[in-house]
Amino acid sequence: DGEVTADMVDEIARKHFPMCMRSLHETLRADRHLKHAGRLQFTLFLKAMGVSVEEAIVFWRKGYGQSMTDDKFNKEYKYNIRHSYGLEGKRADYPAMNCQRIITQNGPGPGETHGCPFCHHSIDNLTSSLTSVYRITAQADLMEIQRAVKDGFYHVACTRVFEITHAERGVKKGEGLGAGESVAHPNKYVARSRELEK
Ligand code: SF4
Repeated sequence: DGEVTADMVDEIARKHFPMCMRSLHETLRADRHLKHAGRLQFTLFLKAMGVSVEEAIVFWRKGYGQSMTDDKFNKEYKYNIRHSYGLEGKRADYPAMNCQRIITQNGPGPGETHGCPFCHHSIDNLTSSLTSVYRITAQADLMEIQRAVKDGFYHVACTRVFEITHAERGVKKGEGLGAGESVAHPNKYVARSRELEK
């Protein structure tokens, strides 16, 4: 898909992010901070989306804004970003987390926003994000998503959100990300959504 610059992330988030990443992005914007697990989940996602390490550093520096000095950012945070890109420490090329990993990792504690909203948020919070952020208001749609969540089929709920929010792009119920594929990776969600916009 080509390089994604730091400046492009806001618009891509608004139009194309799955709920897990949208929630992290909004928390970073509102609090000017994300706790460690959220930073890791989000950094690896952005990397897989095509954000270079240089642009990731610009993105995070701007994201923290005045809440952090340059000195603190350079000493503590830049290293972690570079580490996620396999440029520090043991230089491992860490893959972005798939839904399975995000859902089964330690869930968010107080003040944390990582994880999967379908699994880790209360039904009330989830429903309010579905209506306010994703503009899903039809009762039948909301009930269907809530039912999938209650049954523990988080990826089914996420796939249904994708279908509903991409109906105007011609996506029909049951089609998922294409040919009935359900959401199993947030990077596949964002890639398919961006592809449909073309
Ligand atoms: Fe993110 Fe996957 Fe959960 Fe969807 S099902 S919100 S892509 S972790």
